[in-house]
Amino acid sequence: MKYALIADIHANLEAFEVVLEDAKKNNCTHHVCLGDVVGYNPNPRECMKIVRDMEMPCIMGNHDEYCAVDTDLSGFNPHAGHAIMWTRDQLSDEERDWLKRLKYLRMIANFTIVHSTLDAPKRWGYVMSKLDAAASFTYQNTGVCFFGHTHVPLAFMRDQNTVIGGKYDSLEVEKGKKYFINVGSVGQPRDGDPRAAYVIYDLKAGTIELRRLEYDFEKTQAKILEAGLPERLANRLALGK
Ligand code: ZN
Repeated sequence: MKYALIADIHANLEAFEVVLEDAKKNNCTHHVCLGDVVGYNPNPRECMKIVRDMEMPCIMGNHDEYCAVDTDLSGFNPHAGHAIMWTRDQLSDEERDWLKRLKYLRMIANFTIVHSTLDAPKRWGYVMSKLDAAASFTYQNTGVCFFGHTHVPLAFMRDQNTVIGGKYDSLEVEKGKKYFINVGSVGQPRDGDPRAAYVIYDLKAGTIELRRLEYDFEKTQAKILEAGLPERLANRLALGK
């Protein structure tokens, strides 16, 4: 069984399609979505439809939550707030209800998925350091857990009480150790590399591989501007931040 771990699609259809194509070429038999299907980019309905049609197990991201319910956005970054208001307008009641019902945490096969952290999955904290990862490891009951939210692919590993972590391309899962893996973002990478990111987990081989893929971000940029979304959201796709 080969799993494609997909996070932070953020309504970027061009990036999402390239990722699905690559997963198919690599014989992925299962797909899992780690949240933030919507927000920032111009194709929330199309991306959500693919996730639903493919029956991917999916969990709640912060943007999914903000777009599902009418919370006050006055404390928000104005660009993010604008995109959330815009997305709310695009979605039907039924689509917003689907988002609303997403769980914050799920077990898939023998691993866990969460959008932000295991210690407080509903508080949307960011795991960027070994210290942040250590807090999640305390609550991790499976050998492997995949997460998203930061849009920065990083791998953390706990052996006994020592946590190490950093950038990765691929790794082999060893028994007795715990892994907390950020799979990067499909639709809005923020590690300085504009290519779409996702992970392939080969359960049988015990290998985890980060994939990076070029896609036509200029097409996405044009659609962002056409939709009247903030120009900054278009610019950042070229920079990967
Ligand atoms: Zn996100």
